[in-house]
This record gives sequence, C-alpha cells and structure tokens, in this order.
Amino acid sequence: MAEIYTLTVTELKQALADKSLSAKEIWAAFNARIDAADPHIGAFLTRTEQSPPTLEGPLSGIPFAIKDAFCTNGVRTTAGSRILDNFVPPYTATVVERLEQAGMASLGKLSMDEFAMGNANEHCAFGPVCNPQDLARVPGGSSGGSAAAVAAGMAPFALGSDTGGSVRQPAAFCGVVGFKPTYGLLSRYGLIAYASSLDTPGLLTRSVKDAQLLLPVLSGHDRHDSTSLAEAPAPARSVKGLRVGLPKEYFGEGVAQEVKVAVLRAAQTLRDLGAEVSDCSLPMTKYALPVYYLLACAEASSNLARYDGVRYGMRAEGADWSDMMTKTRTTYFGEEVKRRIMLGTFVLSAGYYDAYYLKAQKGRTLIRAEFDRAFEAYDLLLTPTSPVTAWERGSITDPISAYAADICTVSVNLGGLSAASIPCGRDSLGLPVGAQLIGNRMSDNTVLAAAAALEEAIGWDYTPVCGGKA
Ligand code: GLN
Repeated sequence: MAEIYTLTVTELKQALADKSLSAKEIWAAFNARIDAADPHIGAFLTRTEQSPPTLEGPLSGIPFAIKDAFCTNGVRTTAGSRILDNFVPPYTATVVERLEQAGMASLGKLSMDEFAMGNANEHCAFGPVCNPQDLARVPGGSSGGSAAAVAAGMAPFALGSDTGGSVRQPAAFCGVVGFKPTYGLLSRYGLIAYASSLDTPGLLTRSVKDAQLLLPVLSGHDRHDSTSLAEAPAPARSVKGLRVGLPKEYFGEGVAQEVKVAVLRAAQTLRDLGAEVSDCSLPMTKYALPVYYLLACAEASSNLARYDGVRYGMRAEGADWSDMMTKTRTTYFGEEVKRRIMLGTFVLSAGYYDAYYLKAQKGRTLIRAEFDRAFEAYDLLLTPTSPVTAWERGSITDPISAYAADICTVSVNLGGLSAASIPCGRDSLGLPVGAQLIGNRMSDNTVLAAAAALEEAIGWDYTPVCGGKA
C-alpha cells in the first residue's frame, strides 16, 4: 500500500470506512511526515499536540492544517506578524469550526506572508517557506505554508485565504489544487482581515475531488459574517458543450512562453472533452493591478488600525499613549505591511480620496461589469494562474515587480468570482504551471466539475515531494 501521507482526503475517508486504516495510524503518519519534511520546508508555525483525534463526524480521523490567518481557540494565531506574536484567540473561525464539527482534526498552523500581503511567503515575520518542488524557490503566497504543506504530504488538505490570488498562485507554484470560492460562500468570521471586500477562505488539496468533497462542509450562511450568502451555488454543468473563453489579455506580454504553451494545451484538452473553446477579450484587465492594490491597501489601512498596542498583541512602551502606539506599530509591523498601511492611508486621505480611492472603486465596477458581460457569452474562462513559475527565493525584491506577478488572479477577487487553479504541465526546469478556470459568482460547482475533468485528462502526478523527490 502507498505511504499513508500520500493519500488524499477522499482516499483517507475510504480507508477509514473500510477499516484498512485507523485514525491513530493516519495521525501518526502525518506527524511523522511533518517531522521528516518540515525541517527542509518551514511550513508550520505552530503544531497542535493532540493525539489521536477523537472528534466524531463524517470526516472523523482525517487531519488538516490551517493558514495562520484563521483564529483557533486556545491555539496561537499570528497572521505571520510579530504584532500578533503572543495572540491566543478566545474563539475559532467558522470554517475551522465546520471542519471540526465534521470530525477533522488540525495538525497545526501554517506560515504565510504577514497579514496575507505578498505572493512569495517572504514577508512572514517568522521566516520564509521553501517550495517542496525545489527548495531554492518560493512556494508562492500568501498561503505559501498551506500550498507547501499539501505539496509535501504534510497534510492532505489545508485552509488558505485568497484576497488577490493567495490560494491559487501558491497552488500553481507548488503543483497542487487551489480553489477560491465565490465571495460570501465561505464565512470570513475568524479570518484575520486584510481587505474585507476581497478576502475569501479557500482550499488547497491534491485532487479536485477533495475540494468538491469539502466545499459543502465549509460553506453555508453564518450569522457572524454579514456578507455570508444564504443560497447554495448552482448545480454543476457538464464539460460537454461548455463555452470556455481564453481572454487574450492573460496570454500577453510578461507571460512566460512555457506557461502559455502549457495552458493552451489545457485549452485543447478541454476542447477534446467537448467544450467549445474560443478567444475573447477583457480590455479592463489593464486596470486590474492598480485598482486592486489601491483598494486592498485602503481596506488594509483601516483593518490594521486595530493593532494599537492596547487591545491586541504586542506593545512597545512609550512616554504617552501616542508614543506607545507609534513605537508599537513601528516595531512590530514588517516593512511590506507598513508600506501598504501608508499607501492605503494616503489614498483615503482628504484631497486624494476622489483621485485614487473613488476612482479605483469606479474601476472595480467597470471590471465587474465586463465580467458580467463575458459570462453571458461564456460559462468559464481559462487563463494562466501566474504569468511565471516559482522564482528563486530572494530574487524579487522591488514591490512593483512583485505586485505585477498578481496580474492573472486579482480581477477574480474584484469580481467576487469563483476560480480554481490546477497543475497543467511543467516548464523546462520541471516547475509546475497552473491553469486557472474562472466562473461567475455561484458557478463554483461548474468550475470544480470542469477542473476535475481537466485534471483527469491531464493525469497529473500529485505524489508528495520534498526538494523535488518523493
Ligand atoms: N499578492 C496579493 C497581495 O499581496 C494577494 C494576496 C492575497 O491574496 N492575500 O495583496
């Protein structure tokens, strides 16, 4: 039999049902894998000492791991920031609670870019994460620890969060599945806020089927989140006859040739499966990055105002309250977070609000309207998840180049849409390329059904790796 840590959620569920494995064996196998692989990868910030899990439910005995952006009652939660170094939440995020109610048990909390700001996991205050495919490279971000943990077989499933690509892009870099549901489908209650109008909990798995199994467990209205939706997503449509658009703006300048080739091959595979694939255009894409970064930073400056040294986390002493607050925020926020707070505060300030924040809101409306029109003609859009494959750690240091790498993912959040990234090939260095399927709001089941069909046709080898080796 295959090593236990190589099994997917679906396979573990089957093995538990037919009693070929016990919860105790599974728990021990994943913890042993973490002991062996994580010293090379650095995905876990906190491990949950609890064995074996005893929770009852349909998924009882299946372990998972959690991006450190989700609050866990009694378990340290840092959001990758020194300002929350000592924060132990008194409550649990709804999505975590739902998994626990289904019987799943947490192996621990995973590394991330500080407050989910980044795409390389190099802005975590507690150190970087190495990509299991190639330890010299970044795992992507901001859910880099989640993608790396799943890619290395340290957890069969991890929760991530996606504000502008943070589930899909690391999934693409590490060669796993990343799913960002429609905004509002999964509760944000207990997810440490970055940009509330864009933040979405998401899933990282080693099979689309696992995401299909877990989505209904995670979704549903939550009275603690006023933006959470009451309705269920629409039923899945079959791939046959599905109209799939290839927006040309996602295959243009800055997109690596090998990425284009792999994604266009996936387009051909969809055609072979009976989809009607054709070229289309989304001209508003050129505004996506400035609109996203203006709005995300504006919301962040407001959300992060709560870290004042009084109510949460760390405090640096000062002569008076103002001095204390300044010293606390100066000492305990990282450089990237401070850059974004300043940028966000600037674009919201009197005199600049209309020119930047309001204008960005109008841009967002135009981008949403363009998607609405596109989804009249198409059921899904197919694009690269990232213009490039995983880069070497330390190689991108200027913020603008880093932000530019988010070009394929941010519009999806501006539209509140549903999207999945699945591995569709490798570049000449052997690094995974992600294909992104985008669907309209509430078409999550169709996105996943098409991703599952594509995944099966591609036949990707998800065998967990550490340094590229099984
Ligand atoms: N890289 C983007 C940013 O830094 C997206 C991050 C995210 O989705 N949390 O804002």
